[in-house]
Amino acid sequence: MRLKYGEAEERFREELVAWLEEHAPPPEVMRRPKRSSADLSDWSRKWQRTLFEHGWLVPGWPPELGGRNASAAETMIYFEELSRREIHRSLNPQGIGIVAPSIRDYGTPEQQERFLVPTLRAEIAWCIGMSEPGAGSDLASLSTRAVLDGDRFVVNGQKVWTSGAHQADWCVCFVRTDPEAPKHKGISALLIDMKTAGVECRPFPELSEPDYLDFNEVFFTDAAVPVENLLGELHHGWAITQGSLAHERAMLWIDYAYDAQRCVQSLIALGEQPGPNGAPLREDAHFRDTVANFYVDAQALMLLGYRGFSKFMRGRASPEHSLLKLYGSETVQRCLAAGMEAQGADGLDTTVYGPSLWREGSWAVQWLRSFAGTIPGGTSEIQRNIIAERVLGLPRR
Ligand SMILES: Cc1cc2nc3c(=O)[nH]c(=O)nc-3n(C[C@H](O)[C@H](O)[C@H](O)COP(=O)(O)OP(=O)(O)OC[C@H]3O[C@@H](n4cnc5c(N)ncnc54)[C@H](O)[C@@H]3O)c2cc1C
Repeated sequence: MRLKYGEAEERFREELVAWLEEHAPPPEVMRRPKRSSADLSDWSRKWQRTLFEHGWLVPGWPPELGGRNASAAETMIYFEELSRREIHRSLNPQGIGIVAPSIRDYGTPEQQERFLVPTLRAEIAWCIGMSEPGAGSDLASLSTRAVLDGDRFVVNGQKVWTSGAHQADWCVCFVRTDPEAPKHKGISALLIDMKTAGVECRPFPELSEPDYLDFNEVFFTDAAVPVENLLGELHHGWAITQGSLAHERAMLWIDYAYDAQRCVQSLIALGEQPGPNGAPLREDAHFRDTVANFYVDAQALMLLGYRGFSKFMRGRASPEHSLLKLYGSETVQRCLAAGMEAQGADGLDTTVYGPSLWREGSWAVQWLRSFAGTIPGGTSEIQRNIIAERVLGLPRR
């Protein structure tokens, strides 16, 4: 059993680290407050474009698409180094992480020409219209309707939780085009210009940070979408939700693993502060047990992640994605709750906000933010269902 990368891969890491040290914006710029997940500020556009031009934006892709044909192991190293340094590739993560791969895989040559490179070069910001008031975990129940009328679709309905919609230029929107078909089969994906007449965004604040407006309700009232903006085949949009949306999933656990490690370090630092009885928290036996337990969780998470990744490299299907999503997001959440609890009533302070999860903001604010890990991309309960049914072979509910 070999638990390290090869020499060529380590050279890739050295090249990347040297490049990041020369080009990456300093942490204080990276942590500047942003207004939404489609808020491409000037510095972030410039940074994303620099990554693109140097082949470090999507390393596994060819140079003309911002990459360098990196292997899976090299791409893993890339995510390790970015995550370790808390460097974001883009301030519109859904644009490069989900939309660009979807257009590359399913777009027509014209769509690729029009959208792919401009998205990668941070000229276009995207939002994703999937969830609706009656369709979240059960996405296939979505009811936003698109009716083909000559050379356009006419869209009516409502989306919700649409991150960054009010600042996005375009939306990949999942709509029902065949209401008679079984629910997974009558769905299509449309590329919708957010300036289209009949598209209305209503942003609403988050519990963790009233000034940060990311979530939106998006209403479509007779919005006309040209037929050439259909992404993929008519009525076959479900494949897109299952295909491109899973891009890079095999490597996203690394963020949870580093977050869990940072969280343990934050708990250790918290130990220096006086607890509710006045003595430093590190002297409290329960607190010490708690920190040690989270250290074990953080280590286990890292090892479980690499085990899944090694299976992925050998082309073997692995259930680790669900395990890691569940274990990673909930470990971070429980760790934050422990830090909050250790401080007694002071731990409930939600008035201290900050742009960084780890360095600023009270524990209570960070704990509230941690729900952004346990809900999207399949809630914790959905992950448990998957593990129970597909890994353990238990009957479906
Ligand atoms: C930070 C964040 C960003 C998001 N960004 C976007 C976005 O950009 N675009 C977008 O379209 N959506 C977005 N979402 C929405 C997200 O995809 C949904 O919140 C998620 O799919 C859950 O759907 P729901 O909120 O409707 O909850 P529901 O599906 O209604 O679930 C409610 C509760 O019931 C549980 N539950 C549901 N079904 C089952 C089941 N079968 N078995 C057991 N328990 C079940 C759930 O786990 C949950 O606890 C975002 C959400 C968050 C938190």
